[in-house]
Amino acid sequence: MTQKKKIVVALGGNAILSNDASAQAQQEALEMTSKHLVKLISPEVQLIISHGNGPQVGNLLLQQQASDSEKNPAMPLDTCVAMTQGSIGFWLQNALERELKNANLEKEVATIVTQVIVDKEDEAFKNPSKPIGPFLTHEQAQVLEKETGAVYKEDAGRGWRKVVPSPKPIAIQEQYSINTLINNDIITICAGGGGIPIERQSSRGVEAVIDKDFASEKLAEMIDADLFIILTGVDQIALNFGKENEKWLDKMTVSEAEQYMEEGHFAPGSMLPKVEAAVQYVKARPECKAVITSLEMLGNINKESVGTEIVY
Ligand code: ADP
Ligand code: MG
Repeated sequence: MTQKKKIVVALGGNAILSNDASAQAQQEALEMTSKHLVKLISPEVQLIISHGNGPQVGNLLLQQQASDSEKNPAMPLDTCVAMTQGSIGFWLQNALERELKNANLEKEVATIVTQVIVDKEDEAFKNPSKPIGPFLTHEQAQVLEKETGAVYKEDAGRGWRKVVPSPKPIAIQEQYSINTLINNDIITICAGGGGIPIERQSSRGVEAVIDKDFASEKLAEMIDADLFIILTGVDQIALNFGKENEKWLDKMTVSEAEQYMEEGHFAPGSMLPKVEAAVQYVKARPECKAVITSLEMLGNINKESVGTEIVY
């Protein structure tokens, strides 16, 4: 058997949801996304897809809270992440299968409920920073803080929100299952929403969220991906983003990227984790490249240089 090319694609938020959160609108968005993804697929390519879930898990937490009762209690965060991995995975499987059929490609698609191991000694647990769930008044937040021990912080003048830690992923629990699917030529959707964080020490789910760009990087390293693509809302990365002297980049080396990060060119929480993830991947696999670009550019990626390439 000749070695196939393994490509990990991390889908950004806009691949699934723009402003209409209905199931139908999200399925339509994923249908568009699938049309682009199918352009990457050939008998020589093994495709592995990860995705974000920020808005979906946020909405699900709101729904859970709105109908919380003794008989029908709200589900915790780890369970909600699992639920969104399942629902988004279903939508994407279904949309991809239809597009594959249209393109006369015979491939199966499967989703893995993915647990990602984190360390409870991770510094992030000392400083919860990721806001989740509804906006509350200060009084509501204080009551809940006493009742549950969760941490609440003021979020940019909009109200108080629960914050959870965002630890770094250490490893992916379902490594063997994921590799088995890939090796059987099944298009594999996994590590959705950064994966469900489980504590290394207890192997149990923990109230935290993992950045999907970091989890996708772990995935790419774990399966020895030949190409790591992060799809987001922009075609390329810019220096001085949004300023008059904005400069779009075709390519950057690891050392250039590290210099730009130090100079503060990439916004924390949006572009910075992507560049960090790309750099980490290329350091682990110096012969490979990472690409940060938009969905629309994906079709040309095997033919020409698109987006911003990160190389060793
Ligand atoms: P995703 O859902 O794909 O993770 P994010 O909104 O978290 O998307 O991050 C991508 C966004 O980061 C881009 O759409 C852009 O608005 C913003 N961004 C911040 N800094 C830069 C930069 N230097 N170059 C390009 N985009 C940047
Ligand atoms: Mg993001």
